[in-house]
Amino acid sequence: MNEHILIVEDEEKLARFIELELIHEGYKVSKAFNGRTGLEMAENNDFSLILLDIMLPELNGLEVLRRLGKTHSTPVILLTARDAVMDKVAGLDAGAVDYITKPFAIEELLARIRVALKLHGSAAVAQTEEQEGVYTWKGLVLDDPKHRVTYSGQEINLTNREFIMLKVLLQNRDIVLSRETLLEKVCGYDYVGETNVVDVYVRFLRTKIDEAFGVKMIQTVRGVGYVIKSD
Ligand code: CA
Repeated sequence: MNEHILIVEDEEKLARFIELELIHEGYKVSKAFNGRTGLEMAENNDFSLILLDIMLPELNGLEVLRRLGKTHSTPVILLTARDAVMDKVAGLDAGAVDYITKPFAIEELLARIRVALKLHGSAAVAQTEEQEGVYTWKGLVLDDPKHRVTYSGQEINLTNREFIMLKVLLQNRDIVLSRETLLEKVCGYDYVGETNVVDVYVRFLRTKIDEAFGVKMIQTVRGVGYVIKSD
């Protein structure tokens, strides 16, 4: 499936030039020459990425961004005039993922498009979802089907219960799990014992991962439980 890119740019020659380069790179391209048409096209199509000029007739680029709303998932790269620092800041605040200052080298634009698609594109999401049972956090990869954990490619030996504990925390990233919940998942529903078993496993994991690789992965939420946060 070709990535479909929308160019919203009123300088038609520039829009046409970018279009030809993108087609040459294998992208599918649509164009709009004013903000209003651009907004309509963006709302009614599923583009992989939008290149959005700021200085546009009818609706300027920042207004287009605002109307698209923060929930709009298509990554937007702004095309800005030199020295328009406030526009860049406002654009990033309004949800753009990147900007490039005119005049730009086409190679730089193509590179930024590749990065934006990789980091924010639907293909990126699909790719990670395809990898079923593989969970990552920074340099850490937990591969459930292979029952393997690595950090920056270096293998980490975990016991079965440590492995399950880590998996549960990664599966529920950004959600604080209570000791009771963790205990149930790690030891089973019928486990009768102290919940501080969980603290022991966390300590083992911290020794094998946090201390070994200089990170702070599992965070303690006092009085509640444990969590692995996204960043
Ligand atoms: Ca313009």
